[in-house]
Amino acid sequence: MPTPLPSPYFIAASSPAAALVGLDAGELANEDFVAVFTGNKVAVRSQPLSAVYSGHQFGVWAGQLGDGRAITLGDIATPTGPMELQLKGAGLTPYSRMGDGRAVLRSSIREFLCSEAMAALGIPTTRALIVTGSHQPIVRESVETAAVVTRMAPSFVRFGSFEHWHYRNKQDELRILADYVIKNFYPEFAGAVNPYKELLAEVTRRTARMIAHWQAVGFMHGVMNTDNMSILGLTLDYGPFGFMEAFDANHICNHTDQGGRYSYANQVPVGHWNCYALGNALLPLIGTPEEAEEALDVYRPAFGAQLDELLHAKLGLRDTRDEDGALFDAMFQLLQANHADFTLFFRRLSGLRVEDPSFDTPLRDLFIDREAFDAWAATYRARLRAESSDDALRSEAMNRVNPKYVLRNYLAQVAIEQAQNGDYGGVHKLLAVLERPYDEQPENESYAALPPDWAAHLEVSCSS
Ligand code: AMP
Ligand code: MG
Repeated sequence: MPTPLPSPYFIAASSPAAALVGLDAGELANEDFVAVFTGNKVAVRSQPLSAVYSGHQFGVWAGQLGDGRAITLGDIATPTGPMELQLKGAGLTPYSRMGDGRAVLRSSIREFLCSEAMAALGIPTTRALIVTGSHQPIVRESVETAAVVTRMAPSFVRFGSFEHWHYRNKQDELRILADYVIKNFYPEFAGAVNPYKELLAEVTRRTARMIAHWQAVGFMHGVMNTDNMSILGLTLDYGPFGFMEAFDANHICNHTDQGGRYSYANQVPVGHWNCYALGNALLPLIGTPEEAEEALDVYRPAFGAQLDELLHAKLGLRDTRDEDGALFDAMFQLLQANHADFTLFFRRLSGLRVEDPSFDTPLRDLFIDREAFDAWAATYRARLRAESSDDALRSEAMNRVNPKYVLRNYLAQVAIEQAQNGDYGGVHKLLAVLERPYDEQPENESYAALPPDWAAHLEVSCSS
């Protein structure tokens, strides 16, 4: 059962998330909803539960980890199937160990905003319905106040949920969990010769595709521990995440990650490594290591194909040609050498005109080495000419895949500091901007700007 918080208050709700479960976001501010989504009241027919998991943290087996602060209220039928509603931060659970089962305002707002921003970008993710708060003090690195985010997903089962039973040598429980996941989320494999192998292959494929989406938008998760990997291939557990600004393939967004295990570039091999950890846990069900490896081998081709498709779209290329890989590589080298802003680069690239470089200025200004930019742009122009690309059509198509607005850390920080002073207007405003990331929003131009100097010192860590 959730543990009530004193005098809970409404902070924000997501209209698109509410619509998914047939609720009206406007009504979520009502006292009854606030009570239910803080854990102060349990709704009729809700049977709260918490689910145990273990996992590998930073590549090391860490044993039991959670879920010490998530309580699932039940699921709601939707046109696309049942959706679980889960409170994060609603108090102690049987798995809390030495934690307090709480979440703080700062990290709850970050999770709420980023879940909905990722959904609007079209990236597979868990959703966030509502965030509520309370004046109850919570001790972290400093004293903060409590908040609860209500998350939604068809399932919150993680790779670590399987690892838990495997490492305890509980094969019956392992099988029950795998059969539950197959029956409810992968019914197409139920009749297969080896359903568990098919499950591993499909989860591996979805994970690879999800990470290709992350790379294409410059999203860094920050803590890709196996307990934060969803069995449905959804982005899960938003903590010390970040969006790439000045491009550096080795950028580390999580202050706690000193070795850079989860840097931008490392997300790709780490995703594969995590699938191996899942494969290892499923091995007693799958049979032989060879069969598991066969399933895991889908990772590289699935990642490569998805990223290739996304990069073609980002550059407005209709055809696929042999030389495209070299064009993409040269582009990333150019971004790396100049530390150009990732989001602005792709967005401004859509303004390029094949026969008229005089329109290049805003784009060219992102580079210190302008000649290097010109050289790459010449190759890109030649490639566009080769498929008789139309400037207007290409620009429109590119603006539908290259966001103008992403959740830059400093934007979240400004909204959080306002919220800490009791003003939630900044959260509402940011949510509204991020719900339409691909639209030009002339009145919100400032939300697309480069980070201010003070933002260089912002640090996010695992503590939440
Ligand atoms: P997440 O994966 O988003 O739940 O975040 C993991 C973080 O949650 C950990 O690094 C801890 O700081 C915190 N945490 C884990 N278990 C608990 C608990 N029982 N109570 C409070 N915080 C916890
Ligand atoms: Mg987690």
